[in-house]
Amino acid sequence: MGDHAPRRRPEIALGPALHPPEPAPDADAIEAGRVLFAQECRFVGAAADETGLPPDGLPEVAFLGRSNVGKSSLVNALTGRKTLARVSDTPGRTREILFFELKRLMLVDLPGYGFAAAPKREIARWNRLVPLYAKGRAGLKRALLLIDVRHGFKPADRDFMTLLDASAVPYQIVLTKLDKAAPEELAPRLAAMAAELARHGAAHPQMHLTSAYHGFGIAELRAALAALAYE
Ligand code: GDP
Repeated sequence: MGDHAPRRRPEIALGPALHPPEPAPDADAIEAGRVLFAQECRFVGAAADETGLPPDGLPEVAFLGRSNVGKSSLVNALTGRKTLARVSDTPGRTREILFFELKRLMLVDLPGYGFAAAPKREIARWNRLVPLYAKGRAGLKRALLLIDVRHGFKPADRDFMTLLDASAVPYQIVLTKLDKAAPEELAPRLAAMAAELARHGAAHPQMHLTSAYHGFGIAELRAALAALAYE
């Protein structure tokens, strides 16, 4: 992080009309999220295909999104440490599914997609791997599909939403880099995205707004994930 200076603080960028429709988590939920994410985050293993998946057990949440969407920054902000950077910088790891255990919750990092120059073979591999991963993961509570708030849904994101719908994987949109969004563009973009989401059977209607740079929305996302871990 650090190469893009934030333009403004996110609470200034957000107007009251932009608050997510669901009630904000209460103090107990925020505390449950803080406690869960304060625990050691242990790298459990990496899988290049379905044969390498660790045994099912803990409740699981998976993070996915286009390359550069801010996935590592978000997971690092959630866990308060450079969880992903350390592991995923290892050569070859960017194409694997990475598993991290937070005692009560498994965090799953799915490889970034949408490289402009991705070969067809790579896209085909992805389209095979995600349903294979999702199928039969009894613990998979939710996939978090990260979207850069400045860009909204891109064709590769839409392909994945369709894939997740078809695989019946419940998923939720997490908007990243809120600090970089132009305030006047936010409301119409969020409204258009919400309308589009309503047409996707497996999508959660509420989107999470986050900025890993400012920590905006991080405590709330921790609370939501803790609720999934303990439900
Ligand atoms: P990944 O490829 O999805 O893991 O994305 P990274 O976390 O490596 O982030 C990609 C780029 O976006 C990097 O230059 C980050 O510094 C930048 N970035 C990530 N999160 C934020 C954020 O919340 N705000 C801003 N302004 N930049 C961010």
